[in-house]
Amino acid sequence: MRGLAAGNWKMNGTKADLAEVADLLKAHSAPACDVLLCPPATLLSRMAEAAKGTSLAVGGQDCHAKASGAHTGDVSADMLADAGATHVILGHSERRADHGESDVMVADKVTAAQAAGLTTIVCIGETEGDRDAGRTLDIIGSQIDGSLPATCEAGKLVVAYEPIWAIGTGRTPSLDEIAEVHAFLRNQLSPRFGDGIRLLYGGSVKPGNAAEIFALPNVNGALVGGASLKAADFGGIIAALSAA
Ligand code: PEP
Repeated sequence: MRGLAAGNWKMNGTKADLAEVADLLKAHSAPACDVLLCPPATLLSRMAEAAKGTSLAVGGQDCHAKASGAHTGDVSADMLADAGATHVILGHSERRADHGESDVMVADKVTAAQAAGLTTIVCIGETEGDRDAGRTLDIIGSQIDGSLPATCEAGKLVVAYEPIWAIGTGRTPSLDEIAEVHAFLRNQLSPRFGDGIRLLYGGSVKPGNAAEIFALPNVNGALVGGASLKAADFGGIIAALSAA
């Protein structure tokens, strides 16, 4: 399965930072994996313009479940698509924590985004307390059940396993722990969607640990936060995935 290196710029980046995108495209013009960057909404059109005619895809970091209306500050899936996005991250743990997003809300957003033609990267992951209590697979299982709507389309679904305690901390689960969760996810998803769903690992992926993570079974790429901001770092991750 072709890998996906997805970068999430979060609330970082102004137009000056598009220089990093130019550098990335120069160094990785024909990677052996798919590459996606999800900038803040303010940069989406500009980044999509910079990516035109290249292998880089751009995506949003969230969308509203409604197509339009009185929702100050929100952006709809159609608006993301109109700005040049082909993907959207949904249910990121920072959205779940900062904006109280529940599994049901995430599922509604998945429905809206897929209807707008976007590929949805649905994020799930346990807290450190859940892991310490041996509840990781229970939590992951219920998040995946609740966050995927009945109408979810296999061709527009990517799932990202992101342990909350590993995001931005420099800590990662052991390779065995990552492999265990990804095998569990594959078993959960395959009966419903087939074996083609890409499963990304996210949480402190860096050029230095990417290769060993990508060598694991059922790891089909990464969702990368901090290390996606700099072309040299993200490029190292793209190179590792291309070689996997
Ligand atoms: C993320 O926010 O999805 C993420 C994985 O962040 P980082 O790579 O910085 O841990």
